[in-house]
Amino acid sequence: MKRKRVYIAYTGGTIGMKPSAKGFVPESGYFSEKISALPEFKAPDMPEIEIHEYKNLIDSSNVTPEDWYRISQDIESRFNDFDGFVVLHGTDTMAFTASALSFMLQDLSKPVIVTGSQIPWSQMRTDARDNLVTSLMIAANYDIPEVGLFFHNRLYRGNRARKFDASGFHAFQSPNFPAIVNVGTRIKVREELILKEPPAHLKIQKISPPNIMILTLFPGFAAEMLENVLSTSIQGLVLMTYGMGNAPSNDKRLLKLLKEASSKGIIIVNCTQCYKGSVDMSGYETGQGLLDAGVISGFDMTPEATLTKLSYLLSSDCSLDEIKQKMQINLRGELTY
Ligand code: ASP
Repeated sequence: MKRKRVYIAYTGGTIGMKPSAKGFVPESGYFSEKISALPEFKAPDMPEIEIHEYKNLIDSSNVTPEDWYRISQDIESRFNDFDGFVVLHGTDTMAFTASALSFMLQDLSKPVIVTGSQIPWSQMRTDARDNLVTSLMIAANYDIPEVGLFFHNRLYRGNRARKFDASGFHAFQSPNFPAIVNVGTRIKVREELILKEPPAHLKIQKISPPNIMILTLFPGFAAEMLENVLSTSIQGLVLMTYGMGNAPSNDKRLLKLLKEASSKGIIIVNCTQCYKGSVDMSGYETGQGLLDAGVISGFDMTPEATLTKLSYLLSSDCSLDEIKQKMQINLRGELTY
């Protein structure tokens, strides 16, 4: 039987870093050489791989929408030559990249798995080997037409994952949606959760650097700060609210500012500060005030999914009403009603 083929886009991150006087840093050539020479890749159940090491390997804290576009273009240009794709990436902004790719890669029919590690490959106790080898096996052998994020024995839907532990190996979780693959002695795919294969061919859409902001409410928050933010050329605001999507109803200035902004065409999305659960602005008077001000619901989307989806829609040719409507429906499995 013909061996499966997987393309590895190596963008940077801890996985391939080496110790230096300034802490861990990426070093070109080092990691790609190490992977290519691994005896594991000669095993019959491992796919053939091709590694594309990016020119400037980066710590993912330096990632921008331009990098997301580069990765999308890279995948698009090699799409017909491979069975699946693995993106090696730093963990810090991995959930943003996985979310962004899920929107940018439209009509995706093959697995794209973003992974990395907490300890570099060069270190004895590294988690890189497990994350890489299992990601490659899943990308090669399973019919999962979505962008996933693989970490510590779980494949999460990319736009549902969040980094929740800065140093533990179990660094990611998917608070509002189950893992789509669980890895133990066997690789168990939750077929019923996987997105359906699209009828069309892959298309990519660029995300331009957006004029958007995220703002977290807290007791004592001064509406004046919001006024400053809204007086810029801002197009969208993700408002991180309390509980089920609540904000102070006794702060008339805050509600007035939000109402004026939304009637001017600034899209304001309500995202809960809670790690898990969904926004429902009809539950309390404090939520209803936001609804009346024209704030739209982010339902159970993660902040990463909300920000990247809003950026994606603002970069499209959708009208304001279409953007508002699409923000509140499920496009790539990122949102549950
Ligand atoms: N700072 C690193 C990065 O995000 C952390 C990691 O890869 O785990 O690139």
